[in-house]
Amino acid sequence: MKFHAFLIKYAEIGIKGKNRYLFEDALVSRIIQAMRKVDGEFDVVKTNGRIYVVAKTEFDYEEAVDALQHVFGIVWICPVVQLADEGFEVLKQRVVEYMANLYPEADYTFKVQSRRARKSYPVESQVMNADLGEAILKAFPNVRVDVHNPKIMLYVEVRDQGINVYSIMIPGAGGMPVGTAGKAMLLLSGGIDSPVAGYMISRRGVTLEAVYFHAPPYTSDRAKQKVVDLACQVAKYSGPIRLHVINFTDIQLYIYDQCPHDELTIIMRRYMMRIAEQIAENCGCLGLITGESIGQVASQTMHSLASTNEVCTLPVFRPVIGFDKQEIVEVAQKIGTFETSIQPFEDCCTIFVAKHPVTKPNRKVIRHSELKLAEKIEEMIKTCIETDEIIICK
Ligand code: ATP
Ligand code: MG
Repeated sequence: MKFHAFLIKYAEIGIKGKNRYLFEDALVSRIIQAMRKVDGEFDVVKTNGRIYVVAKTEFDYEEAVDALQHVFGIVWICPVVQLADEGFEVLKQRVVEYMANLYPEADYTFKVQSRRARKSYPVESQVMNADLGEAILKAFPNVRVDVHNPKIMLYVEVRDQGINVYSIMIPGAGGMPVGTAGKAMLLLSGGIDSPVAGYMISRRGVTLEAVYFHAPPYTSDRAKQKVVDLACQVAKYSGPIRLHVINFTDIQLYIYDQCPHDELTIIMRRYMMRIAEQIAENCGCLGLITGESIGQVASQTMHSLASTNEVCTLPVFRPVIGFDKQEIVEVAQKIGTFETSIQPFEDCCTIFVAKHPVTKPNRKVIRHSELKLAEKIEEMIKTCIETDEIIICK
């Protein structure tokens, strides 16, 4: 079947007010960006509260659908056949051909839903429904009408430019278009959870930057490449991500030398948060995002979370906080990050983990231990922020 356009359906809830156009314009921009990667040329047009992606040339259908499925804000993607208005009798034939083409098994229930956006069209929508339905019934003996729960909803829309016919509805990514909700800094490790966390926040319209704490030579270039790969995979949804790679080795060694080993992880996590927050402030991010989930590991008990949280003033968004591991894995599989995340490259946390890390860190005790870093830590933080390596992931 040759489709000429895609009708884009987006969530109407919450966007009815006077800011609706901002949402729609952002969605149009995101769609234009996404379609640039597709083989073919397209116009993205907004008319009568609808968005159409109209093909100007031959195009790769699979690629086009895949690109649209990565745009947040889209709820349904409907491939449309556009027919010229050659009179109602011809329309009946064309609609029957359409059904024959798309559903050759010819064994289904259906309902026709017609709409006249162009009121001058001589046939009223109720009559269109009845007559088009009848033509289909006549053409395919095993097909039945079901007005309550049809397997196929056939939409026929008379517009100024012609007549649109569609019945396929492909689920979109949902959420809000990126660029409608400010920017946040994702703490991106090579694990399963943080890419999912970034995806979830970005899905609400938030633009992402990311920071990765790298500890060469304890963590390899391959581990860093894995994080870059993950950022690129998330960027398929979120748009380009500026990834800050921070060399964290000296700070980790300093903590290792000065502080009790069972507190290493928690103290290290607190410095990660502090540094991430400073970078976030420098580049206009309004919050931090982590992949933490209560109780998953020692550094994510309620006590540990309270301890890492207290060093931040920006809000910390933890979208998977109440998810079980399996639920996070399911999202990771859905968005295509899982296979990369499970590649076996050490992350900087595992190298310096104590055999028995504290699971209920006492904040007063931790603050006291951190005093031992007073001499050099501020200078070290400054250096590692100044020497960050920025990689654009897209
Ligand atoms: P993930 O699967 O996201 O790596 P995890 O289960 O390994 O999480 P932790 O290592 O305790 O959990 O990390 C908790 C969160 O801290 C991560 O989700 C991530 O947001 C952040 N984080 C951990 N290590 C790093 C790192 N090296 N660079 C950037 N952020 C990190
Ligand atoms: Mg990790």
